[in-house]
Formats: sequence, C-alpha cells, structure tokens
Amino acid sequence: MRKIGIMGGTFNPIHMGHLLLAQWALDEVKLDEVWVMPTGVSYLKAGRDVTAPEDRYHMACLAVQNNEKFRCCDMEIKREGYTYSYETMIELHDRYPQDHFYFIFGADCLFSIENWKCPEQIFANCTVLAAVRGDMDTEAMQSKIEELKQKYHADIMLLPFMQLEISSTDIRERINMGKSVRYLVPDDVIAYIEEKGLYQNEVK
Ligand code: ATP
Ligand code: MG
Repeated sequence: MRKIGIMGGTFNPIHMGHLLLAQWALDEVKLDEVWVMPTGVSYLKAGRDVTAPEDRYHMACLAVQNNEKFRCCDMEIKREGYTYSYETMIELHDRYPQDHFYFIFGADCLFSIENWKCPEQIFANCTVLAAVRGDMDTEAMQSKIEELKQKYHADIMLLPFMQLEISSTDIRERINMGKSVRYLVPDDVIAYIEEKGLYQNEVK
C-alpha cells in the first residue's frame, strides 16, 4: 500500500508555498508520493477569469519535474464540467484500490468543507490532512475535527506547517505590475509564464 498525498488547487500559478507544503507533508506523514492536481473549472470560481486548465497543468508539471516523489495529475482537468473533490476521491479510490490517499488542504477549509458537494464521500475515501499555517488557534479547530469525526467517521490529521505569505493572487499582481516573482515561483514556471505572456495584461 502506498501512501499518496493529493494536493488540489487552482495553481494559477503554482508557487513555492504549494511545493513547500507538498514536501512538508511528504516528510511529516512519511508519504510515498504527492500528486499535484490542478482543478478543472471550480464551481467556486465559476464566472471568474481563470487561466486555461492546460496552462495551469503545464506549469504544475514543470514545477514538480525534478522531484521524483512528486507527480502532476490531469484527472480533474480532463473531467467534463465543474470540478468536485468528492468525484476525484471516489475515482482515486476506484482506480488505485491498493493505495491510501491523503487529501492535503489548508485547515481553514475544515470550517467550509461541509458546504462542498457530498462531503461524506470525501471523508469516506481518504484521510484529510489539514495544514495548520503558523500559530492558528487550534482550539476551535479541534472541536470542529471532533464534530466531523462523529458526523462522518472522518479521518482527519492536523499537519503543523509554517505561515508563508505567498499566494497566486499576489504573484499574478506582481507579474501584472512588471515585478519579479523569482524565488516565489520555480524558474521553469517563470520561463513558461513569460513565453506565453500569462498574467501580463489582466484587467482589474
Ligand atoms: P489564490 O490566491 O488564487 O487563491 P492560492 O495561492 O491560495 O491561490 P490555491 O491554488 O488556491 O493557491 O491553493 C491550493 C492549495 O494550496 C490550498 O489547499 C491552499 O490552502 C494551499 N496554499 C496556498 N498558498 C499556500 C501557502 N502560502 N502556504 C500553505 N498552503 C498554501
Ligand atoms: Mg486560495
């Protein structure tokens, strides 16, 4: 049985915060691999102008290519329609019945996950690995975890992580203003962004 971390996100673009969290999860939870999985069209971000899935996927592939434990997965961008995490977890479970999946996301999502589509299917098919950024108040979080465990038989682990003020939003803005994103984004990804002219003329 492999232990595989699934790191979902828009990755518009992927940045060092994402990669550091993936590496952190790999080491702390002793995962065998982490699969970075860019979303197709998220219903949460529908109507907003998000970079083409193929570009976001390509950038994620470039970002993970020199780490033999990281993979980039196109399962969500290939699926028709909106992306729902529960469908991904079911599909992973069906396709790789021997493996165990850890769904990595920010611990703040524990407070909204019940509003996602079919949260019970998420909990039924993976362990949730909730990254705690910096010294967040864990008291409210612990009681939320207890509640989710009771209600869904959820398997939830907290992953203490560090506070990194890096976001894709900020990176897009920097590029738009002609500032450098070196050391925030891997070099190969920067080269791709420049080649394709991504984020350069975004209207606010
Ligand atoms: P945006 O600014 O467009 O919302 P983002 O930087 O938050 O982008 P996402 O693609 O939305 O990136 O996030 C994917 C996953 O990575 C989420 O689970 C999110 O919690 C996590 N993540 C994003 N930025 C960081 C960071 N700086 N440190 C730790 N985790 C992060
Ligand atoms: Mg975000």
